[in-house]
Amino acid sequence: MIQLNVIPGYAEAMPADPDMSNTRRMVADAYSYVTPRIFPHARLIHTSVEAAELLGMDKTQTMSEQFLKVFSGQEVYPGTHPYAMAYAGHQFGNWAGQLGDGRAINLFEVEHNGRWAVQLKGAGETPYSRHADGLAVLRSSIREHLCSEAMHHLGVPTTRSLCLIETGEKVVRDMFYDGHPKLEPGAVVCRLSPTFIRFGNFEFFAAKKDKEKLTRLLDYTINQSFPHIAISSKDAYIDMFKDVCNLTIDLIMEWKRVGFVHGVMNTDNMSIAGLTLDYGPYGWIDRYDEDWTPNTTDSGQKRYRFGQQDYIALWNLYQLANALYPCIGDVDALQDVLKTTEMDIPQKYYTMMSKKMGLRYVDQDIALHVDELRELMQSSGIDMTIFFWILSDVDWEAVELNQENILRLIQPALYRELSHSEAEKWHKWFEKYLMFLKKDKSNVVERQQRMKSVNPKYVLRNYMAQLAIEQAYEGEYNLIDELYEMLKRPYTDQKEYDHWHKLIPDWAIDRPGSSTLSCSS
Ligand code: AMP
Ligand code: MG
Repeated sequence: MIQLNVIPGYAEAMPADPDMSNTRRMVADAYSYVTPRIFPHARLIHTSVEAAELLGMDKTQTMSEQFLKVFSGQEVYPGTHPYAMAYAGHQFGNWAGQLGDGRAINLFEVEHNGRWAVQLKGAGETPYSRHADGLAVLRSSIREHLCSEAMHHLGVPTTRSLCLIETGEKVVRDMFYDGHPKLEPGAVVCRLSPTFIRFGNFEFFAAKKDKEKLTRLLDYTINQSFPHIAISSKDAYIDMFKDVCNLTIDLIMEWKRVGFVHGVMNTDNMSIAGLTLDYGPYGWIDRYDEDWTPNTTDSGQKRYRFGQQDYIALWNLYQLANALYPCIGDVDALQDVLKTTEMDIPQKYYTMMSKKMGLRYVDQDIALHVDELRELMQSSGIDMTIFFWILSDVDWEAVELNQENILRLIQPALYRELSHSEAEKWHKWFEKYLMFLKKDKSNVVERQQRMKSVNPKYVLRNYMAQLAIEQAYEGEYNLIDELYEMLKRPYTDQKEYDHWHKLIPDWAIDRPGSSTLSCSS
């Protein structure tokens, strides 16, 4: 028997929409009650036992029939009332109006190892589904399940994924938006998060000019996610906003540290608690390129490209400030927070990068050196993950630094041969790097350990998820399991998985799903 410690949460604190008809429409309130769709042939594909433990379940319980029933939405857990949340948002820089959980259904909240809201993604229509079906396909669900858990093990704040369920029903998707819709297997992912509140939930009430409910949402959010702040005062709201700014920029630095590109940083995908939220057309940097975005919907403007994520986060924080303004009424105070946040970005960035380089301090010279490295990585198209692993693995103070040795050492990270002048630039860069290392006076072993705690050896490269997807579409799931197991220890040398610590294969360079992804999911 599964016994969950269900507690009151968002649904108890916020007003429900009074209209119970559950049709697609504009709503006035914070959420609507919905019923998850029943999938009689639902099948459990993969479970994160680590995530199950957060809710107080053990491995045996995750294998029970009841687990599948509760976490696929077929059986409503006693005393709970599933619901979908209303929110609004700015998408690709434009106001998009009301959005909401179009295919997410919140089941309940549980207290065990912390508090966790439990949410299904892909379990059918809600009043917020607009023109869409409320369903998710297996391909995007595999990507969300694996990546959420991988991010957690990388130490990047994120929602979690409890399990991946195949619904046994087909879903129609036009993957490339080119007029060729296909039937694909449907799936449900069960996500866990301390909160699913987004910037867009605040924008929703602000747009409705409903100050009372905006205040209620603010007080609830502070109470749940920022308990060190006293509620219900202008100062409290400013303090919360400061925290959100810090958490958000810190999150983006984590993305930049591991080479993650979210792909759709719309304000409705921005977690109020600074968590990675809504894994859609995300991607990982293989060949270093700050201008890269995996999202084909954004291929013209590249608004959400890798290198711009911090400034886009700042833009989103401006939208949040606008939404909170009615409860704060002090433009100067909000602007001060935003200015400080903006000024902190370079400092946070260079601190993160100097840590990747194994340095325990950062100054202007190091910042310049980081910029030189970025330029070199960009122009040489070097593999980001492999390069930083090599940087962490080699005792540079013991190497005779000539062009030949440097080329030999960074060779495994190179996608092409370097020209003589490029090799010379790397040589110069390493000579200066050695200077900084000497100044830092770390013990080599200690430094390597430090570097290997911030530079992962294994990440979920786009082609790897794609291979797992292609295998799953053939009815085989062992790659999901292999990747999941490997990504539990991304900073540890795992020789048995070294075939995944490689340059991406040629076929993956232009293949859809590996190099580019659409929002179709
Ligand atoms: P996203 O770009 O995935 O963050 O989605 C933007 C909005 O569209 C959100 O409100 C989603 O809930 C909604 N949405 C995306 N896909 C679907 C779908 N298949 N059915 C219903 N709503 C969807
Ligand atoms: Mg979303």
